[in-house]
Amino acid sequence: MKTLSSILKATTTSITDLLARRICLVCKSVLNNNPVQKSVSYITSGFICPRCNDRFPAPIEPSGILNQMISHFPGDELSISNAACLFQADEDSAYMELIYALKYKGFKRVGEQLGTMLGDYLNLIGMTDFDFITAVPIHSARRRERGYNQSEYIARAVADNLNKPANFKLIKRNKYTQTQTLLGSDERRKNVNGVFAGGKEFDLLRNKKILLIDDVLTTGATINAAATALLESGAKRVDCAALAHA
Ligand SMILES: [Zn+2]
Repeated sequence: MKTLSSILKATTTSITDLLARRICLVCKSVLNNNPVQKSVSYITSGFICPRCNDRFPAPIEPSGILNQMISHFPGDELSISNAACLFQADEDSAYMELIYALKYKGFKRVGEQLGTMLGDYLNLIGMTDFDFITAVPIHSARRRERGYNQSEYIARAVADNLNKPANFKLIKRNKYTQTQTLLGSDERRKNVNGVFAGGKEFDLLRNKKILLIDDVLTTGATINAAATALLESGAKRVDCAALAHA
């Protein structure tokens, strides 16, 4: 007959076992806890299965992203000189779960690992000539509520990879904006007008080349408003990079 302590022990073991089982953020299958094999890319360590890793969506050419942005910004309103994204995905793509996990569920390591991959990609396409790496700021109220700015985790990993300084005091966000998801591209541009301004260390921007990081690039309205603030605060050139182009 089983003793109470052995039952408790068995129960505890199964709970621990359950907690130790991690699932693939993309397809929700259980990940095995075997150490990551050398042949498998480092992205699989902890949050994505080898199958989803193999099918990881490809990026599109930076010129393609820039052309799309040009179509959203009439005249000389585009403040971004070049744009690169690690992968192309529709907003309902299962791979967007990686971004949601980083943004809303506290999976900061996803930001760090995908940020390292984004850095590899930037090295590959030769987009590396920057004085500072920075991130699109979130409003202080949102930071208090969420506890972190997801894009800073990406930006720090990119900065480490490119061996450039990260600085998150170059611009600040003045206005709290509602989510842009339901707005058209004209409305998005108006909605973010004047949202950003020079930050505490804006004087470092004079004549500098800046890489501005965000998690997702859609129409580019938000990142372009942030880039405009960087240029108005003295930067010479602003390029941008994001994990996903949706
Ligand atoms: Zn998977």
